[in-house]
Amino acid sequence: MTRLSVPEDDLFGLTNLPYGVYSVPGRSPRVGTRFGDFVVDLCLLLDDPTFAAPSLNPFMAQGRGRWDDVRSRLRSALSGDVPDEAVHAVSDVTLHLPFEVADYVDFYASEHHASNLGRLFRPDSPEPLMPNWKHLPVGYHGRSASVVVSGTDIVRPSGQRLPAGATAPVFGPSTRLDIEAEVGFIVGRGNPMGSPIPASSADDHLFGVVLFNDWSARDIQAWEYVPLGPNLGKSFASTVSPWVVPLAALDAARVPVPPQAPSVLPYLEMSPPWGLDISLEVEWNGEVVSRPPYAAMYWSPAQMLAHLTVNGAPTRTGDLFASGTVSGPSRHERGAFIELTWGGSEPVTVAGRSRTFLEDGDEVVLRATAPGVGGTRIGFGEARGRILPAVH
Ligand code: MN
Repeated sequence: MTRLSVPEDDLFGLTNLPYGVYSVPGRSPRVGTRFGDFVVDLCLLLDDPTFAAPSLNPFMAQGRGRWDDVRSRLRSALSGDVPDEAVHAVSDVTLHLPFEVADYVDFYASEHHASNLGRLFRPDSPEPLMPNWKHLPVGYHGRSASVVVSGTDIVRPSGQRLPAGATAPVFGPSTRLDIEAEVGFIVGRGNPMGSPIPASSADDHLFGVVLFNDWSARDIQAWEYVPLGPNLGKSFASTVSPWVVPLAALDAARVPVPPQAPSVLPYLEMSPPWGLDISLEVEWNGEVVSRPPYAAMYWSPAQMLAHLTVNGAPTRTGDLFASGTVSGPSRHERGAFIELTWGGSEPVTVAGRSRTFLEDGDEVVLRATAPGVGGTRIGFGEARGRILPAVH
């Protein structure tokens, strides 16, 4: 037995305890938690076979009562002596995609991002926001099969794009490959078809939170998106962080969302506060280029989940919905390079070079922290990806 010494102010201290799936050489992937710079095996720590699974789905399916119970047992177990065989250094393990992604939906919940993109994609329109934007959380259905864990290389997508001034498209590798710094929410327990989830019940269904990079090929997107929305410009890859921060760990990060006017329809009313004071950071080739504030997001995750199901659509364990690009009001708070460089017309200097969109070999890392209970801060780990050349 061993006593793990982790400082109270560690980003992965007792107030965080995120869940992930790890493996060590020669052993199958299992569920663990991160405590300081250790990964602790939950099956061995809690003597519970639910955590011998290679994904969080069986645990998530057990529901809120079990999530709360396990979190409380975990906190007390880690405050005492821990079996040696349950403990690994985080540097000795491989981290895997922590859950089986069921359906994946991407929203568009930042007013700053939606306004910036409106100005860039529809420069002749007097209003940057579409008339529906303040009445419902706009979203589209994405591709769950291409959600990958941090550290997975991203192959530059090829597709159709319409060169400036041309009347017919060409095919080739994307020349405007971009990121979207987002926060992803995981449904632990879903709803049956025909039984929507009220915004006031979101706590019973949302298991946890990850960082999410919605890699986006702007040239493919700009040509394909009218009138049905994004498709191949985004479906090639999305990166999630390996640690799922439980919603319960974010109690101290709850803040009111910005004022919503006009007032929302009754099914989107929620018990406040449902905003989250998560501070994101976008690192491009080793340099921090943006610090998007999640607290500025207009629509809350409770409203996104209520909207997702209000037509009677079912959700399932492992459903993932992402917030849309997190952008704040200032330039250095923009979560996508198309905004940061204003469509490529205002390059930024990264590691001494003038840059607009992603080049082969570039690496982007998203990180984030949030207030934890008792004045601590909690960490989300990172969502990292490097661009490889196109295959054709
Ligand atoms: Mn997105």
